[in-house]
Amino acid sequence: MNHWNVIIIGSGPAGYTAAIYAARACLKTLIICGSTKGGQLTTTTDVENYPGFADVIQGPWLMEQMEKQSIHAGAEIISDYVKHIDHKSTPFILTGEDNTKYSADTVILATGAEAKWLGLESETKFRGYGVSSCATCDGFFYRNKDVLVVGGGNTAVEESLYLSKIAKSVTLIHRRDSLRAEKTLQNKLFSNPKIKVLWNTVIDEVVGKEDPLSVNGAILQNTLDGSKIKYDFDGIFIAIGHSPNSPFVKDFITTDSDGYIVTEVGTTRTNVPGIFAAGDVQDKIYRQAVTAAGSGCMAALEAEKFISS
Ligand SMILES: Cc1cc2nc3c(=O)[nH]c(=O)nc-3n(C[C@H](O)[C@H](O)[C@H](O)COP(=O)(O)OP(=O)(O)OC[C@H]3O[C@@H](n4cnc5c(N)ncnc54)[C@H](O)[C@@H]3O)c2cc1C
Repeated sequence: MNHWNVIIIGSGPAGYTAAIYAARACLKTLIICGSTKGGQLTTTTDVENYPGFADVIQGPWLMEQMEKQSIHAGAEIISDYVKHIDHKSTPFILTGEDNTKYSADTVILATGAEAKWLGLESETKFRGYGVSSCATCDGFFYRNKDVLVVGGGNTAVEESLYLSKIAKSVTLIHRRDSLRAEKTLQNKLFSNPKIKVLWNTVIDEVVGKEDPLSVNGAILQNTLDGSKIKYDFDGIFIAIGHSPNSPFVKDFITTDSDGYIVTEVGTTRTNVPGIFAAGDVQDKIYRQAVTAAGSGCMAALEAEKFISS
């Protein structure tokens, strides 16, 4: 069995940044990249907020650069999916999809999170072309435009409030007649003149143009009487939550009620010494490439300290 000082699970901004720092600290470093090599940014197009680039860059291109930089620093990359970690053995033993075993002094969990989607065919078709799951990432593209937000929890209300500062109008739809979001957030929402709420309403279909692919509206359905009306929107934000990719460690790594890995405040340390967590899998607040990269750096530095002590 091959042995590494640091095994990083996940190849998003957190994983690649951790790899760059670990390899440059002369630690034998492996990235196990999972089914989405490059992570979430490979599923999007324009990225305008990653520092260092004056022009708009493409998400997949940015992740290719991070991969190349990790390899250049000396990290190895393997295409596998970790299904189990023996956290009681020293060193740790990781098991991949085909039962391949990997041994490591330290492990960095950088497995990210996945946005939840409605599951409509038209939603999938327009993802990245007017349908988004991240207002912080894509809101700026809808300056002075009309946008729709879907959801009823804190995320949906926060996304609506954020978008109201950028967009011309925000319509929030929820399938029930009351929101689950915290009361203080709801008060802010209801007193915002730019935000309109449609109750008992769901998206029946996202509609748009073919060439180039772009959203121009949605057919909304009333859940009480089944009636359908077409509305014009320039962008649609699905804000029904995220699922952190933590189930494979939940038996021994502490997670919160939503499945996010809990780290010691101000660090990337989990409850298991030698296992660190970085990026979206431990961050339910910021969920940005740059914050994921920042915590990836922290995890590598902490792994290095752990090994030397
Ligand atoms: C459509 C879209 C647009 C976005 N636009 C922007 C933007 O413009 N700017 C911005 O800053 N942020 C943007 N984001 C958010 C940003 O992509 C994330 O915050 C960031 O990718 C999180 O990085 P991460 O490394 O934590 O995880 P991820 O990027 O989610 O990567 C997780 C990695 O873990 C791997 N993995 C998961 N489970 C396993 C396992 N068991 N074994 C092995 N590997 C595993 C996956 O294959 C993947 O490689 C966007 C997100 C989306 C979805």
